[in-house]
Amino acid sequence: MSDKRTVAIYDTTLRDGTQGEGVSFSSLDKIRIAEKLDEFGVDYIEGGWPGSNPKDVSFFEEARKREWKHAKIAAFGSTRRADRKVEEDPQVQTLLDAQTPVVTFFGKTWLLHVTEVLRTTGEENLAMIRDTARYLKENGKEVIYDAEHFFDGYKDDAEYAISTLRAAKQGGADIVVLCDTNGGTMPDEIARITEHVVAELDMPVGIHTHDDTGVGVANALASIAAGACHVQGTVNGYGERTGNCNLTTAIPNLKLKMGYDCRTDVSKLTQLCHFVDDLANCAHNERAPYVGRTAFSHKGGMHVNAVQKLARTYEHIEPATVGNSQFILVSELSGQSNVLLKAEELGFELEKGGKEALGILADLKNLEKEGYEFEAADASFELLVRKALNHYRQLYTLKEYHCTTRVRREGAESFETCEATVKLEVEGEREYTVAEGDGPVNALDAALRKALVPFYPELEAVSLTDYKVRIIDSRTGTAAKTRVLIDSSDGQNTWGTVGVSYNIIEASWRALVDSFEYYMLRSRS
Ligand SMILES: [Zn+2]
Repeated sequence: MSDKRTVAIYDTTLRDGTQGEGVSFSSLDKIRIAEKLDEFGVDYIEGGWPGSNPKDVSFFEEARKREWKHAKIAAFGSTRRADRKVEEDPQVQTLLDAQTPVVTFFGKTWLLHVTEVLRTTGEENLAMIRDTARYLKENGKEVIYDAEHFFDGYKDDAEYAISTLRAAKQGGADIVVLCDTNGGTMPDEIARITEHVVAELDMPVGIHTHDDTGVGVANALASIAAGACHVQGTVNGYGERTGNCNLTTAIPNLKLKMGYDCRTDVSKLTQLCHFVDDLANCAHNERAPYVGRTAFSHKGGMHVNAVQKLARTYEHIEPATVGNSQFILVSELSGQSNVLLKAEELGFELEKGGKEALGILADLKNLEKEGYEFEAADASFELLVRKALNHYRQLYTLKEYHCTTRVRREGAESFETCEATVKLEVEGEREYTVAEGDGPVNALDAALRKALVPFYPELEAVSLTDYKVRIIDSRTGTAAKTRVLIDSSDGQNTWGTVGVSYNIIEASWRALVDSFEYYMLRSRS
């Protein structure tokens, strides 16, 4: 039996989370999120379903090239099909092809599903679970068995439901996970059933819940309190319908309120929440527990000093514990520790309260007021820090850029071209280049490259892999600002940059220039 005080965190943002409406990630986004989750300290990262999605296959290819500090990468799939040998099942084969240390597979618990959906017998279903676990174990995998519809199945026929878990155990599964797939179970039922399973099975048990009745997190916590030692969920609660168990809430509860040992670094929780929202291009949930903007906000009107004294009596934890800050106060200190932490990650030692740290903080606050967000724009943030610390060399001076769009219609057909010109000074020479592209950003990218590549040939390796646009403060209508996030890659590393302006072309230009500048500074230092 595992130690009850330790709870393993299993993140499925990249698989179950992407079932959510409006949530989709490119395979490079997925890598960046996985890296962030690894740094944060989750134990397992479920990367996707290789048998159902080619994008997930390329994620696993990329994941293999990387060294993970703590997390283990898991591929997800299902049992072998009915009446087929597990060795000959192509779907099971894709799970091995993903070459992950961990494989999670799901199977049926509920006889109704076995007979109506799978159209097979209860016996064959047990064999499917047992064979799949055994075969994956024989291939050296850590095996996690997800018992789909476990609670509904249990309420229908408890004995059969438990026999499906036994089948997984007989096959050698390392852990069985009870899934509330439809999300309709209440916390007291979850606790009672978990307790029964733990007593019956004598093996590690995990929990996977959904938030259909608003108790996704409560259900996970109830199960843990009843003896489960592994919790599955997603960052910000992404997931189909109303979402999965929100790890951004569950983790601090487990750690700070219930005293369980999870290896995650909760001081990076707010940062993680923003990072994932930014890559998903989702607006932050301002009222999210722990990590929302208003989680520790207090209505103003009182003298700042008094609030500072009073705040503690009105806050259930110190905001900095989860990387958040009080909202009404210009929270010099908590904001500063974030800056120090990030600067340190970049190899710069800053003194707390020193002129440099406060200077960066002031720049940051101003930019944030303008609509900048740096969580997913690590490269823009690094440039900001470098400039403040004079670890920056201007590589060229921009004189002017110009960009036009021409649309010509001939009958039913229309032709679009964009043309961009760039004038700049580089290494004392004036460059004046022109290029065409499918769109304005594409044209500017091409013209800027033309001007810079003769001086910085390494730029040819850089490609823009993703481009996201978000309108900020839509209340102001047409005067709304645009935030552009660009992801770039040189085939090995990826980095993010950000630009904000009333003009979408200018916002894009700023993000583009940052990307090139960052790469040139990095490769020349
Ligand atoms: Zn699920």
